[in-house]
Amino acid sequence: MQIFKFGGASVKDATSIKNVAEILKNFATEKTIVVISAMGKTTNKLELLAHAYFKNDENTQSILNEIKQYHLEIINELFDNKSNSVFDEVENVFTELMWNIEDPISQNYNFHYDQIVCMGEILSTKIISAYLNHCGISNLWQDARNFIQTDNNYREGKVNYELSQTLVTNNLMPLFTNNTIVVTQGFIGGTSENYTTTLGREGSDYTAALLAFFTNSKHVTIWKDVDGVLNADPKYFKNTSKIDELTYHDAIELTYFGTSVIHPKTIKPLQNKNIPLYVKSFINPQANGTVVKEHVKRVNITSYIFKDNQILISIQPKDFSFIAEDNMAEIFNAMSKHKVHANMIQNSAISLSLCVDDDINKIEQLLLDLHQQFKVLYNKNVQLMTIRNYNQDIINNLSQGKTILLEQRTRNTHQMVLQNEND
Ligand code: ASP
Ligand code: MG
Repeated sequence: MQIFKFGGASVKDATSIKNVAEILKNFATEKTIVVISAMGKTTNKLELLAHAYFKNDENTQSILNEIKQYHLEIINELFDNKSNSVFDEVENVFTELMWNIEDPISQNYNFHYDQIVCMGEILSTKIISAYLNHCGISNLWQDARNFIQTDNNYREGKVNYELSQTLVTNNLMPLFTNNTIVVTQGFIGGTSENYTTTLGREGSDYTAALLAFFTNSKHVTIWKDVDGVLNADPKYFKNTSKIDELTYHDAIELTYFGTSVIHPKTIKPLQNKNIPLYVKSFINPQANGTVVKEHVKRVNITSYIFKDNQILISIQPKDFSFIAEDNMAEIFNAMSKHKVHANMIQNSAISLSLCVDDDINKIEQLLLDLHQQFKVLYNKNVQLMTIRNYNQDIINNLSQGKTILLEQRTRNTHQMVLQNEND
């Protein structure tokens, strides 16, 4: 068994979907589970739809129409025969979405969000599965919610490994007696009450890793619009180089610090079963890409990971006492309550500093909570820079013209929170 994962960019229009069919023709010659994300930026659009519906916004219907139009254009281009059943299937999904946004609103935004946002993956997989069958790439469409089971923590469903394993073994694996390719959705799961959950934004990679784990796959391939894992984001660096091989440990660190080619949760399930992960280009599929596995030829390429739009929060007890364990417990509880993840933490005698993504929805609430107990100061619009395999020259170079607000180093990794000097 092997797992292929195609993200939004690889299926963003009819031409891209034709390219996916080509890749499958050439590379899906053994039993393959194909995990697919929503097309292009559909998830963002569905997020807008969920938000508009929840706010009772007058644009709700027009956002829905826009999403529908986009998908209709794609199927019109893919299928000459307008009586193909895919036209009805797509129509049915939009009817279901319509019902969703006509439902009375409950208090639970995250619940509604998941019931709406999941439809991006349902649409993309229905369309692509039908197109592959139409091209003679025979495959079976499966609803991932029937085997990826989660708790009811909407928008961040926690996967029930035991139950999902059983469902995959009993319901998914037997399908391969008569089929070579199964097409299913990334990113979504089901609860015991048959509601939909999502696994966190960009979670399709994680689904691919879970399915590899449950089916004991030989390998996973994530097909991307880049050549593999690069040592820096081309947005910030002119001369990037591809990293040929990475250990699971390296990959976990890089993704944890913010390398965005692979979702951070992806690596652990693969590492536990020693399943190699390939990151390959869908534009140049014959090229080698990057492989993530246990043992690699060691080359210590320096990697650079930049995270913009950070906020550096400094927290002090109001009575100027020392920061002690009970204060820390309070602070971490508040972070956990608001689902805020620390990108960097440092504590001194009288204050604790946190560098986190400046996500307005979460941070405002967090600051409000913290203000009740602590004196809270913050710097907005700072940048977190992480350098793996660093040396002093590199650090001096990158921090030039910037103020270093916070700095931390281990043997391999150097992190700085930076502010532009004129900010
Ligand atoms: N479609 C989802 C998202 O954009 C999941 C994914 O792409 O991995 O977040
Ligand atoms: Mg995506």
